[in-house]
This record gives sequence, structure tokens and C-alpha cells, in this order.
Amino acid sequence: MSRLDLPETEGSSMPATPPDGDRQSPAPQAGEGQHADAGDTTRAKLLPPHRQVMAALLAASALVPLSQPAEAQEKPVSEYGNVALRAYVQQPATALAPIPSLGDLAREKRTIVAEHEREERIERKKAERRAEARREARQEAKREAAERAKKRAAARRAAAQPDYVPPTVGELTSGFGARWGTSHTGIDIANGIGTPIVSVADGTVIEAGPASGFGLWVKVRHDDGTVTVYGHMNEIAAWTGQRVRAGQQIATIGNRGYSTGPHLHFEVWVGGGTKVDPLGWLATRGVSV
Ligand SMILES: [Zn+2]
Repeated sequence: MSRLDLPETEGSSMPATPPDGDRQSPAPQAGEGQHADAGDTTRAKLLPPHRQVMAALLAASALVPLSQPAEAQEKPVSEYGNVALRAYVQQPATALAPIPSLGDLAREKRTIVAEHEREERIERKKAERRAEARREARQEAKREAAERAKKRAAARRAAAQPDYVPPTVGELTSGFGARWGTSHTGIDIANGIGTPIVSVADGTVIEAGPASGFGLWVKVRHDDGTVTVYGHMNEIAAWTGQRVRAGQQIATIGNRGYSTGPHLHFEVWVGGGTKVDPLGWLATRGVSV
């Protein structure tokens, strides 16, 4: 059956096309142009985000070249599209504010860290200098204390070891001077045999041995040149050339030589030869027998 065979039941104004085909796929018609534009605008507002971005890109690529200088206009459209994309996806406020790059932030951070470290180094240096000053002060105080202790010890030794001491202990039985029609050139101090005899001052032993009239004797030359002589001793405890201190034992009391009993015969030769009264000489040096 041909189209011409169909009865015209739906009106003569209808086009001569099958009714079903007309409804399924309507062909665009000239009179519907304005209606179609209005429909596109409405649809754009409702597009999903990625479609909106595409729309912005299209708009930007169309507008930007018109407002750019000639050289900018030579750039491919895709670059303007990128600019538009960035402007679109960023928030308005942050899009306008300059955003520091990661490099700037890293440099700023390095600057702050370096400044902080520099201040810390300065503080450490200061602390080290303070500690060093304290150490030096402590060491100086220690040195001074040691020096004072040394001086005190020396003073104690000096006090404990006087410059002059008695030659022995005992009874003064004879003084210096005329005796029995002759001159007694020393003093006699009597005590038991073996009683210690000491040097009356620092000096050097210049003789230690037998001597005419003395039996045995010891002679000590002191630092001022004075010589002290010790006689009649029982035993000698020193030797020629020995350095002796005040109070150091050099012999023991005996009864040798021309002696009337155990005693020490003691003489003082000032300047090495002038015999003086030992009692007076010792007294002027703070020593009594
Ligand atoms: Zn005598």
C-alpha cells in the first residue's frame, strides 16, 4: 500500500510524512531559531561544573585576544584558556592577592632559621665566655689560697724553727772570763753524758774531731761569719762540710779533754776569731741558758 493510498483523516494541512517519524525525530525548522537560543542559555546555567569550566574557557578565548597587545594575541588560544581556568577555579579574594611561591616561603623560612641560629650562637658564645670567666676566677682564687697557705706554712715553720737556740740543756757551771788565774774563753753547761748538743743556728760544720784540750770538738760557721765551738763531747754526730739547721743535733755531752766532769764547753768567735761572752751573744738573739 502506497502513501497515496492512505486516507486523509488527520487534515490536509499536515505534511505528507508518516506521523510516527515526525514525532520521533523532528527536523529543525527556520521559525524555531530564537526558541533554540533561549533554550541553550537556560541549559548553560544548569550545566555540571566541568561543563561550566568549558564555557568559561570558550568565553575567555573569545574575549581575551581583543584586549591584549599584539604579541599577546600571538599566543595560542590554549594559554588564554589556562588563565581563564585559573581565574575561574580560584576564589575571588585569593585570586586577587599575590600568592608567595614555595621558593619564596622556603627562602623566608631559611632566613628566619638562620637568624635564630645566629642568635643562639651568640648566646652560646656569651655563656661560654661567662663560664670561662668564672673558671678563671675560681682558679685565681685557688692560686691565691694556695699562695696564702704556702706563706702561712712558711711562717709556721719559721716560728717552729727559731733562728737561735741554746746549745744544750743543763746547769751553767762556769761563765766567760778570768778564772783560776787564766782566761776562760767560753761557758760550761753541765749535764749527764749523752745529753744532746745542737747547733745554735743554721750553718756549716767546718771541723768535727779531736782537738787539744777539748778532747773532741765541733766547729760550725754560721751565715753571718760567726763560728761557734763545742768541746769535751762524748760522741760526734756531724761531719765536716755538713749543712746543719738551728737545733739540729751535732754531738752528745762527754767528759773528754781537760774536764772536771761531764759538761759542754761552748765558745762564740765573732767574725771567725774574736772570742766573746756566749751568754751576752745568745741573749741579744733572744736565747737564755
Ligand atoms: Zn769550759
